[in-house]
Amino acid sequence: MTRNCYNDLKAAVWDRGTCSGCGACAAVCPADAIRIEGGSDAPVNIGYCKAETDQVPCGACYDVCPRVDPARPPGREACMARISAKAAFEVAGRQSGGAVTAILEHALAAGLVDAVVTVTEDRWTRRPASVLITQSEALLGSAGSRYNWWVPLLGALKTAVVDRKLRRIAVVGVPCVVQAIGRMRASENDLLRPYGNAVRFVVGLFCTESFDYERLIEGKLRGEHGIEPWQVRRLDVKGRLEVQLEDGNVLKLSLDELEDCVRPGCASCTDLTAADADLSAGAIGSASGCTTLLVRTPVGQGFVDAAVRAGRLELCGEVDMAAVERLAEKKASRA
Ligand SMILES: Cc1cc2nc3c(=O)[nH]c(=O)nc-3n(C[C@H](O)[C@H](O)[C@H](O)COP(=O)(O)OP(=O)(O)OC[C@H]3O[C@@H](n4cnc5c(N)ncnc54)[C@H](O)[C@@H]3O)c2cc1C
Ligand code: SF4
Ligand code: SF4
Repeated sequence: MTRNCYNDLKAAVWDRGTCSGCGACAAVCPADAIRIEGGSDAPVNIGYCKAETDQVPCGACYDVCPRVDPARPPGREACMARISAKAAFEVAGRQSGGAVTAILEHALAAGLVDAVVTVTEDRWTRRPASVLITQSEALLGSAGSRYNWWVPLLGALKTAVVDRKLRRIAVVGVPCVVQAIGRMRASENDLLRPYGNAVRFVVGLFCTESFDYERLIEGKLRGEHGIEPWQVRRLDVKGRLEVQLEDGNVLKLSLDELEDCVRPGCASCTDLTAADADLSAGAIGSASGCTTLLVRTPVGQGFVDAAVRAGRLELCGEVDMAAVERLAEKKASRA
């Protein structure tokens, strides 16, 4: 167990503007002393630290942070299988083919996992929130991608592991979240091991960048375009941000125009496809209405096979890996 404290994390990550907002440090701090507050680019400490204040070995926040180490090397697209797939049933609100929802819904219904830690949102404010879902029907309501946040994405993991004592958890996250889970699973820090041991299945969502809630929803959409959050039906990124409104209109914003809304920590991120996940999922590489699935581990394969066998997931066709690799290279070289 290291004696690094939040001040070391602050110096290595927060003060350098590389924090991704994954929320892992806040989730694992045994003193609940790290907070993620709206309008900020890095977490804050409330002024107490087991290691610093009481000289008790801890280091949980430092050891879990995916931004403490240098960027990952290239070659991230290696996988056991590449599948294009979609939900075999109606998933209202799905972002691509609804494959992620279908696989997780089946996993919960069949008792393969007890809970899913994911990100949902308030439909009125479009403000995202980390959530623990234990009922498969509830998962159907959370389909779709949240591109805008500043919330502790992994906040619900603490509820699952510490409060609910769940030990068969699936986590859905963007690559920085998946990297934090990877560190929990590999860590020798006694404070992280219970989290790593409790995670059975990790689904990684492809990610080029994310937007800050306050800057995108409050500043850009409400402030500059007069659009209230509840008027937004869906956000999608297809070379530009498409804001679909409830009245049927679509506002298209170029990514250049949104540069100041992108979370600063995304600038140093090199991982498009969540290489450390059991199963990675994205839109690129598949026809519209289908999801690209990169199976990384036997665990990932097992969950996909189970959903197919149960008739909940349908295969769509070939994946265009060249398109995936081009976008992955573009992201890595940008960083
Ligand atoms: C910030 C962000 C950026 C993305 N960028 C790209 C990209 O550049 N290229 C690309 O091909 N794909 C990208 N994706 C992935 C894509 O939008 C879809 O999530 C993916 O194709 C799976 O689609 P689906 O229909 O199978 O998922 P669905 O069936 O709609 O299920 C999505 C699941 O993800 C969960 N979820 C949504 N948002 C988040 C979040 N922020 N963190 C954790 N869990 C979440 C939901 O709760 C739900 O369980 C991005 C996703 C996000 C969240
Ligand atoms: S990247 Fe994640 S773990 Fe690291 S400081 Fe930011 S929120 Fe905490
Ligand atoms: S680009 Fe995506 S995965 Fe990378 S830091 Fe930003 S939100 Fe996390």
